[in-house]
Amino acid sequence: MPPETAAPAKGLVLIAGAGPVGLTLAAELARYGIPVRIVDKAAGRSETSKALVLWSRTLELLDRGIGAAPFVAAGCKLHGVNIVAGDAVVGRIRMDGVGSPYPYGLMLPQSETERLLEAGLAAQGVTVERQVELESFTQGEDDVQAVLRHPDGRQESLRAGWLVGCDGAHSAVRHGVGATFAGKTMDSNWMLADVHLHGYPFPDSEAAVYWHRDGVLVVFPISPGRSRVLADLPPSGLARSPAPTLEQVQAVMQRRGPPGLVAHDPVWLAGFNINGRKVARYRWGRAFLAGDAAHIHSPAGGQGMNTGMQDAFNLAWKLALVIHGTCADRLLDSYGPERSAVGDAVLKAADRLTTVATLRNPIAQGARNLIAHLVLGLGPVQHAVAETLTELATGYPDSPLNGPALPGDGPRPGARLPPTVGQAPPGTGATPRFALFAQPSGAVDDLIGVFPQLLEPMPRPPVQPDALWLVRPDGYVACSATDSVAIAAYLRRIMPGGGSGA
Ligand SMILES: Cc1cc2nc3c(=O)[nH]c(=O)nc-3n(C[C@H](O)[C@H](O)[C@H](O)COP(=O)(O)OP(=O)(O)OC[C@H]3O[C@@H](n4cnc5c(N)ncnc54)[C@H](O)[C@@H]3O)c2cc1C
Repeated sequence: MPPETAAPAKGLVLIAGAGPVGLTLAAELARYGIPVRIVDKAAGRSETSKALVLWSRTLELLDRGIGAAPFVAAGCKLHGVNIVAGDAVVGRIRMDGVGSPYPYGLMLPQSETERLLEAGLAAQGVTVERQVELESFTQGEDDVQAVLRHPDGRQESLRAGWLVGCDGAHSAVRHGVGATFAGKTMDSNWMLADVHLHGYPFPDSEAAVYWHRDGVLVVFPISPGRSRVLADLPPSGLARSPAPTLEQVQAVMQRRGPPGLVAHDPVWLAGFNINGRKVARYRWGRAFLAGDAAHIHSPAGGQGMNTGMQDAFNLAWKLALVIHGTCADRLLDSYGPERSAVGDAVLKAADRLTTVATLRNPIAQGARNLIAHLVLGLGPVQHAVAETLTELATGYPDSPLNGPALPGDGPRPGARLPPTVGQAPPGTGATPRFALFAQPSGAVDDLIGVFPQLLEPMPRPPVQPDALWLVRPDGYVACSATDSVAIAAYLRRIMPGGGSGA
């Protein structure tokens, strides 16, 4: 039977996959008034804890839309990570000092993160279509023609303006565009155990990484008494690591962890292998890739889900401005280079962290422990590590979207402008607008008058006297200048046809 064909919908965004990344994208687009359909082939949300932490930068970005408050209310705050070798704490990374309204990692099982994202989406009138699978698609000049399979076996042919593959590591969209998922599978097996613990020697607000000569043991408190335990195991030659038993978990903890640490009442026991893979391109005409569809890597550092959600934040405001006709299609060309550079950095860092944590050679282990002790004792190093972990240091220094920069030590184009307490972050509200940080003046009023669809209606307090800072709807600096002419030129550059601005 031929598929039913729906009416064409040029502005419609079809999102394949309702994991944390698809849900974030749908929620962002919906608040910008963009019609979306979000489909997922699974019958329900993921019920396992998987990614456990929402980092500071993700919470800041959530705050521009559905709000970080429900997540903060549901989670537990992680203030530090201890690195232990033998009997000694060789390093302690504190999150309290990072410059964010959210100076911590928020421990929240992925199932809860997804529940809250879906609730935020439902509040905007969008429902996830479950048991609906993206089967195939083709692209035209102005649209994407997708075939969806419904639970009763019915096929639907849908015409959308854009397709975003948030459909995870085995992405149908990635296969459809023919992108290579280049990388490797690490030659080790891992165990994961969400268990209740007795005898954990650190406060519930601190994680611990035990470097042992056999390998690594990581303990992340999830909620009072309940923790995530991770450990690498010798290569077994099996393609998939088997789930451990509670006894096996206990044996590894006993050997590598502190004395008296006891696991009981397991919630989830799983085995996993680590892949480091990434696509080279995130945009293929009218199709985009985001989240695990574009990059997967070691869970070291807990960056996977956060990186994916930040892909979605990056893409949403750009898609909204292009669909509204305010900006030219070429604005979307910046999505790939910006997020691919972040993806490369995350993959590299996760790989390095995993390699360092799983060193087997005793001489290399000794050198590692000594260097960690020396380096992590330095305040600036500790601060830099915390800013990287919390993703506050993430930026787009080489973005094609970066405009001119004033000399001096003000924030550079591509850098995150920290949110100001008591001020709504840029990008809040029903339309993505750039924020202008400048002293009020006639010239500033004129500029806002010329670009009413791109600029917030009021300037914000200046970053530096006698200077203008233009900040993107996702809170990253676009450019800085001493006069409004350079700002106007920047805005015209992203408008349709170069834009007259009038
Ligand atoms: C055991 C385990 C532990 C992990 N631990 C951590 C951690 O500690 N920290 C961390 O950051 N990350 C961790 N991760 C990774 C994290 O879970 C992922 O990075 C995150 O889920 C990615 O979100 P996503 O939305 O991109 O993809 P997913 O969560 O995989 O969601 C993709 C969705 O797309 C749907 N889908 C697939 N194909 C189709 C199709 N053709 N049509 C419609 N729908 C489709 C799927 O049903 C799924 O719901 C872990 C993962 C696993 C498996």
